[in-house]
Amino acid sequence: MQAVQLSEEGTSVPFYLSQGDECEIFRAAYNNQMPLLLKGPTGCGKTRFVAHMAASLGRPLYTVACHDDLSAADLIGRFLLKGGETEWVDGPLTRAVREGAICYLDEVVEARKDVAVVLHPLTDDRRMLPIERTGEVLEAGPQFMLVASYNPGYQNILKSLKPSTRQRFLAVDFDFPAAAQEVEIVVAESGLGTDRVAPLVRLAGKLRALKGQDLEEGVSTRLVVYCASLIQGGMPIPRAVEAALIEPLSDDADIKQGLRDLVATVY
Ligand code: ADP
Repeated sequence: MQAVQLSEEGTSVPFYLSQGDECEIFRAAYNNQMPLLLKGPTGCGKTRFVAHMAASLGRPLYTVACHDDLSAADLIGRFLLKGGETEWVDGPLTRAVREGAICYLDEVVEARKDVAVVLHPLTDDRRMLPIERTGEVLEAGPQFMLVASYNPGYQNILKSLKPSTRQRFLAVDFDFPAAAQEVEIVVAESGLGTDRVAPLVRLAGKLRALKGQDLEEGVSTRLVVYCASLIQGGMPIPRAVEAALIEPLSDDADIKQGLRDLVATVY
């Protein structure tokens, strides 16, 4: 289930509970034609935020989940064989520039290095996208916006954004919502009542406190929503907690037992 909100114009937009002034920053970036970088752990609401803002601004959204094999050609486009003829097919970035859409590059540091080369002329005041293969040079209109995200928690020396790339973006730091807000989000997303969501969020807080000691990454709001949805669907709490909050976090039997001991302090 995905809750919706109404925009100022009365159209429905994906539900997003703001944590601070990130919606204002996004609007300012859009109005000033500046790219935006969202930093934060997985499952804390970055993708939902972008979907919410794109719908609020009435712009189409192209989301690209970046991976280590994603190249500039995947973003820009390529010639494909169609019925014996070669035909140029725009990639999502090119389409976004042509249509004046928002292009969201999720986990941008995962992408191949040649992606940065493409982003540079697009993220400074030139706002240009050269398409070498066709000889075209597209100029981005005022409605085009580039948004990228990355998870500083995963950073290593090989995979970090170069200063020459990151200093072209405005940036907003994301984290897991405060407990009261997380309860509100999980209730809206799962339909489970506040009194049953509150202990789950308390448990998530305790599990997050283990980050760095036993766990590489704290439990995400996404997993708390999954857990609440399973319980709302009728699954017994211990089974839902095991499937959504224990097993996804670790493969190590001792660590999982430690997590179960923590669960016992809440339920
Ligand atoms: P990320 O992109 O940071 O990995 P997502 O945006 O996919 O995370 O968030 C995961 C899920 O958590 C969303 O699908 C939504 O259910 C929920 N969520 C997290 N934060 C919020 C929020 N502030 N408002 C509404 N839903 C949220």
